Amino acid sequence: MVARMIERLGMRADRMCTIESSAPQGLVPLGQALRVDDLLTRYVDLAAPASPGVVARLAPTTGCPPERAELERLAGDEHGEHVLRRGLTLIDLLEMFASCQVDLALALELLPAPRPRQYSISSAAEEQSEVALTVSVLEGPALSGEGAFRGTASSYLQRVRPGDRIVATVTSPSDAFRPPADTGTPVIMIAAGSGIAPFRGFIRARMVAAAAGQDVGPTVLFFGCRHPNGTTSTPPSSPSTCKPGALTSTARIPGRPMVISATFSTGCGNGASAYAL
Ligand SMILES: Cc1cc2nc3c(=O)[nH]c(=O)nc-3n(C[C@H](O)[C@H](O)[C@H](O)COP(=O)(O)OP(=O)(O)OC[C@H]3O[C@@H](n4cnc5c(N)ncnc54)[C@H](O)[C@@H]3O)c2cc1C
Repeated sequence: MVARMIERLGMRADRMCTIESSAPQGLVPLGQALRVDDLLTRYVDLAAPASPGVVARLAPTTGCPPERAELERLAGDEHGEHVLRRGLTLIDLLEMFASCQVDLALALELLPAPRPRQYSISSAAEEQSEVALTVSVLEGPALSGEGAFRGTASSYLQRVRPGDRIVATVTSPSDAFRPPADTGTPVIMIAAGSGIAPFRGFIRARMVAAAAGQDVGPTVLFFGCRHPNGTTSTPPSSPSTCKPGALTSTARIPGRPMVISATFSTGCGNGASAYAL
């Protein structure tokens, strides 16, 4: 998207620019020389669907009456059906309406600041050597019908490599969404897709407790897969890890949710369960 925007603005990626503004927008640092590609990558959200206000601001930038009229319609009653539902972004519109005259300054005004994405920590607090995230990469044919869509943060996280640094803040979950303090309390968890992430952390906390000799109650996770043959690529533990505290069963019944059942007080085999929903 950055490359598309740079091309549409008729600029070069390595062009340096300094933003001066009496009304600073979002996170763009003022008075600091930045490369155009850096500016568009880090300080604005190119993936945000264009709001009615943004579409309305584009209309007067074109000298082409039919395109102007269509943009005015898209900023009004047709916005929901033709912009929001198709996920059209500023760059999509600039490519569709080639007569719009937009420079970098206006593009920066029209683009929102990047929106933080939230991810659940999917490891246990007791495992202090590292923090795990379980991320579902959002990708597929674009709703606009033009090309492919890739989620900004999830595809970025897919690209990071060991040693890379990412910017993140850690916040505490609400009190209501925690595993029971008493590890002996039985728990049933129900999740689908990346919703498994926090439960992975809960299960791992129970595994740590079991390994430390604590009493741990039955722990069952019902996991919904979109595809009948789907499975989770990041189960909380390999079912083949046959030791006390490890998961003892995973069951996949075609067309039904997968069930992961764990018993923590005994070794491999005991308490293995499969449930058909
Ligand atoms: C409390 C909380 C916890 C979360 N925990 C996790 C977690 O542990 N793991 C996890 O993977 N996610 C988690 N999420 C979701 C996560 O925050 C992001 O929303 C998700 O990763 C998508 O972000 P993205 O930047 O990749 O996509 P974005 O770039 O933000 O794209 C999403 C937007 O694109 C639109 N869109 C979707 N598909 C298309 C398409 N085909 N064409 C056009 N537009 C489209 C959507 O309508 C949406 O507006 C959590 C969310 C919350 C609120």
